[in-house]
Amino acid sequence: MISRPKGTYDIYGEDAKYYNYINGVFTAISELYNYSYIRIPIFEESSLFHRSVGEASDIVTKETYDFKDRGERSLTLRPEGTAGVVRAYIENKMYGDVSQPIKLYYMGTMYRYERPQAGRYRELTQFGVEALGSDAPSQDAEVISLAVRAIEEMGIENITVKINSLGDIETRNNYREALKKHLEPYIKDLCSDCQKRFLTNPLRILDCKVDKDHEALKTAPKIREYLNSSSKERFAKVLEYLEYLDIDYEIDDNLVRGLDYYDHTVFEIVTDMEELGNANTIGAGGRYNGLVEKLGGPSTPCVGFACGIDRLIIVLKELNKTRDISNNLDVYITAVNEEEKLKAVILAQDLRLSEVKCEMDTLARSLKAQFKQADRLKAKLLILLNSEDLKKGIITVKDNLTHEETKVDESEILDYIISNI
Ligand code: ATP
Ligand code: MG
Repeated sequence: MISRPKGTYDIYGEDAKYYNYINGVFTAISELYNYSYIRIPIFEESSLFHRSVGEASDIVTKETYDFKDRGERSLTLRPEGTAGVVRAYIENKMYGDVSQPIKLYYMGTMYRYERPQAGRYRELTQFGVEALGSDAPSQDAEVISLAVRAIEEMGIENITVKINSLGDIETRNNYREALKKHLEPYIKDLCSDCQKRFLTNPLRILDCKVDKDHEALKTAPKIREYLNSSSKERFAKVLEYLEYLDIDYEIDDNLVRGLDYYDHTVFEIVTDMEELGNANTIGAGGRYNGLVEKLGGPSTPCVGFACGIDRLIIVLKELNKTRDISNNLDVYITAVNEEEKLKAVILAQDLRLSEVKCEMDTLARSLKAQFKQADRLKAKLLILLNSEDLKKGIITVKDNLTHEETKVDESEILDYIISNI
């Protein structure tokens, strides 16, 4: 037997209902906030991720799926969505559109070579939005509020928005020096990843999952103290908007995010679910004002976020939110002989054309077994076809909850069903 590759899983049954439900909520909320859908390729030129996510990032150093195609091109399965959206923005010259800013949402699978565990897979699905072209702090607040609103809409309440500012380049240069000076004496004590990060991307040491309780990190200088005045003012504005929008937040001085392209606002949305362990971050994002230019486009301020759909499925299942995703049947049609079955096929077609969700037997079950199947599918109404009735132009409808039966004239069956489901 061939098994699925390590770190992947099949989404079907109940999980699939959650999956569609979550994507549906994100899509509806994104449209409400005036974002438009974009579909980008699942693989891109490898250099796109090296240049955007950053050579020193965890993703590029150890998580990408790289391969050569038959034409010897170096390609990478996308580990995240922002790089592809920015590439598409530049390549399609969206910066030239009269209508600005460009606000986009995407969903789809991402690929990261990680050690699989609860909420951490090698094929994962993200939903994300990117707002390209606005530097307004209100744009940061809009993106955060969209994420929070979508998650709350799903009935998930115990979430925390953690936020920090990485400031502008000047701020980060000054801070990097101060942080290196502070960490230098401790460096031999830190994990091997952090020893490498010290040389390539020392800020990343702050959100190391291994060393997070180490004294070196606890006593580290805070970037907040290094923000220059314009960065400080900008951060204060974002927080002020969040307060106006009634979004509770927690400033987290150690939040730096793994990717190289962030500046100013960075945030994470975290749940308190213990089952997810260190995979309890359900969404994350921030501002990346330098990325479009770095990838060859005009200087363009941007902000975005991405949520992990797989982790949201786990949270919703744990909270037992089945009510919100119930997908019950409106009508089950029972039929036994050929004449009844033919009528059932025609009736099912008419009902579906009228947006009524219905089902009929296709396994030659007995009438009793058909009733059982109707119960399993939680049908609201049953249409009990029988040849005797049909001769008289009558159809019997049964309410599957009250068991009350009603004889309906065949010509009125559609209207009757529609007004009773
Ligand atoms: P983490 O710190 O948990 O590794 P990350 O910083 O790598 O997360 P991002 O790149 O910001 O995550 O991705 C955004 C969201 O995508 C995460 O908050 C998480 O919900 C989800 N995600 C990231 N990696 C995985 C994975 N391997 N499996 C499932 N979901 C993931
Ligand atoms: Mg990660």
